[in-house]
Amino acid sequence: MGDLSTPPEDRPVAPAVTGEPDALDRLWTPHRMTYIAGQERPSEGCAFCQAPDLPRSDSLVVARGALVYAVLNLYPYNPGHLLICPYRHLADYTDLTVAETAELASFTQIAMRVVRATSSAHGFNIGMNQGSVAGAGIAAHLHQHVVPRWGGDANFMPIVARTKILPQLLTETRDLLSSAWPAT
Ligand SMILES: [Zn+2]
Repeated sequence: MGDLSTPPEDRPVAPAVTGEPDALDRLWTPHRMTYIAGQERPSEGCAFCQAPDLPRSDSLVVARGALVYAVLNLYPYNPGHLLICPYRHLADYTDLTVAETAELASFTQIAMRVVRATSSAHGFNIGMNQGSVAGAGIAAHLHQHVVPRWGGDANFMPIVARTKILPQLLTETRDLLSSAWPAT
């Protein structure tokens, strides 16, 4: 606290007046702000930026729209686990244009119809993790998860053995879904 005997107009404006001291030291790292603020988010090396350009043999892309595309998750929770991504390297849902938002929603609906038609999924988990703190694996490039669910799919194996049983190769799933995807 300041010296209360000093007249108010002569007291220095000390940072201490905006808080109470505690036992913690502060490490000031303002250079990190440019990264946090998103000015240095590299799109180089981003799997979702590269996915649309891969040759067909290596690609898990199922369908391509004008502004977004659908790709199989390389690390699926279930068979047919799709990701709907904008082509643009954007981290946050609020960064999408109205047109991108609309096509992302439309592709999510088509993905559900296609997965239902090909695999008789009983239900879906739909959603996106925003930021690595919320569980996003590739936080810099937003992606909507479309995860088909079947009764009994959450069995003991992932819990006991940390192993997910996937009965179909990803390239076979890709071919199945892309052939069922309606032409745009
Ligand atoms: Zn990207």
